[in-house]
Amino acid sequence: MTQPIYSIIAPVYNEHESLTELYRRVSQVMDSTGEPWELVLVDDGSRDGSSQIMRKLADEDSKVRPVVFARNFGHQIAVTAGLDYARGKAVVIIDADLQDPPEVILELIAKWKEGYQVVYAVREEREGESWFKTATASIFYRLIYRITDVKIPLDTGDFRLMDRAVVDVLNTMRERHRFLRGMAAWVGFRQIGVPYSRAARFAGTTKYPLSKMLKLAENAVTSFSYFPLQLATYIGFIAAGLGILAIPVVIALRLTGWQFFIGQATTLIAVLFLGGVQLISLGILGEYLGRVYDEVRGRPLYIVSEAPSNEEENKIE
Ligand code: UDP
Ligand code: MG
Repeated sequence: MTQPIYSIIAPVYNEHESLTELYRRVSQVMDSTGEPWELVLVDDGSRDGSSQIMRKLADEDSKVRPVVFARNFGHQIAVTAGLDYARGKAVVIIDADLQDPPEVILELIAKWKEGYQVVYAVREEREGESWFKTATASIFYRLIYRITDVKIPLDTGDFRLMDRAVVDVLNTMRERHRFLRGMAAWVGFRQIGVPYSRAARFAGTTKYPLSKMLKLAENAVTSFSYFPLQLATYIGFIAAGLGILAIPVVIALRLTGWQFFIGQATTLIAVLFLGGVQLISLGILGEYLGRVYDEVRGRPLYIVSEAPSNEEENKIE
């Protein structure tokens, strides 16, 4: 098979209702470019028969290359595997649920041909999502923007095109707790955004419950910022500063015979508050320490039970 110019990557977790339609729309768009392309589908441990549909699509069209995980490793890891298997000169990441309209890929490609190496799609509108999801996502992007060192574009998900040069760099970054949009911003290169309106899901429900969103937010913060670790220092300085200021005040009040310690409430509040702050700080330390431990163990990022045919099986990354 000739080397594809474009690789389209879609992470798949229980998306059996969307896959055929995804393939149809991606084919339509990509065939119109007149250049060779491939569709890398990564089954992230689905239990709804998604991998059977992937296999069927691959049997009918060799441009479809299914990668099947041994279990659910999470969206960011599934995309990572897609990046590892992709062979194109330009690689596009897209959601399998058709919330990212494949037609937008043509606009991404146009910018790539102008010489941009990362072309990310910026959500202008979101259809069919709860106000809770939209509001939390909006807060999340703005919080990340403020406290991380890397300027990650606002309202931008993983839907993007990346040049081979960028993908090769990303593929050398094997950190476990991954926030790909941050990593892509961190590597630099010529980047540009393209606005699009995010569609409603084609079928099924979100595979990102609040717990997974929180995990992603946590990974984003800890991967790109020490701010939580430094928080303990700031609070410590403020508390110590207040303590020092209090000494002359207390002495002065005592000397003038002021009766102010009526109960123990003030002491109790101070002890409880500082105790709480200390425990939280310990927890934050633990969070970073655990991540260091995860990295040191150096386990594979994912385990593949089925690689695209004519590639070695049981590939471990
Ligand atoms: N996904 C995945 N593994 C997971 C969760 C989600 O591969 O553990 C895939 C999912 O199939 C979809 C994409 O990641 O293609 C985005 O997930 P989803 O649409 O559920 O997220 P939302 O759009 O609601 O934020
Ligand atoms: Mg979605």
